[in-house]
Amino acid sequence: MDTNSINRYASAIREAIVAHEADIECLDREIGDGDHYINMKRGCEAIAGLANELNGLDASDALNKIGMKLLSTIGGASGPLFASFFMAMGKSLKTSEAISINHLAAAFDAGVQAIMQRGKAQTGEKTMLDVLVPVAQTFKHMAEQGHTRPEIAAALKKTASEGLESTRNMLATKGRAAGLGERAIGHLDAGAKSCQVMIHAVCDLVLA
Ligand code: ADP
Ligand code: MG
Ligand code: MG
Repeated sequence: MDTNSINRYASAIREAIVAHEADIECLDREIGDGDHYINMKRGCEAIAGLANELNGLDASDALNKIGMKLLSTIGGASGPLFASFFMAMGKSLKTSEAISINHLAAAFDAGVQAIMQRGKAQTGEKTMLDVLVPVAQTFKHMAEQGHTRPEIAAALKKTASEGLESTRNMLATKGRAAGLGERAIGHLDAGAKSCQVMIHAVCDLVLA
């Protein structure tokens, strides 16, 4: 993975987030404070603005830079969480070896672990982790078993959609929806939705 592919993934993610504006906004309006789409869009624009600065960096340094940029640009609960994800992913990819699919799976998992630590949350709490944790597990498992990239991409899309759907009937115990009790039941979590959208965008590039 080089900075060209990072920039390509970042622009696919940005397009996908913009294409899902209505869904993402509506979900955070129903059981949050309505700003999740704005936060995501701001983060995507900040990363797009970094494209030239990323040129020539290795994947590890580029991801770390993205994380630091997100920390200073996205507000809310999700900003520091996504920042931790990219910084931990960058740290995990600090290797002199050529980056393999196993390295990527391990780095994605390290990013998700960092979100769990930062937000003191687990699966089952109606957050982005209900998408990210099962995706990280499927990714590691399939990479270890030697599946092809298209097979992995297709499986991760399915896992992400199932994870998103799993948030619908959960009570929220983290984030703004935590105060709503039963009222949150029946709604998907906005952060889980944006993670599902981003994972689909990246996997679609692999499948293209
Ligand atoms: P805010 O809630 O501060 O307005 P956003 O709207 O940008 O921030 O992000 C809300 C999303 O962040 C939620 O939908 C949820 O997925 C995620 N989230 C909130 N708190 C946590 C946490 N402690 N751990 C993991 N994810 C969280
Ligand atoms: Mg919000
Ligand atoms: Mg907010």
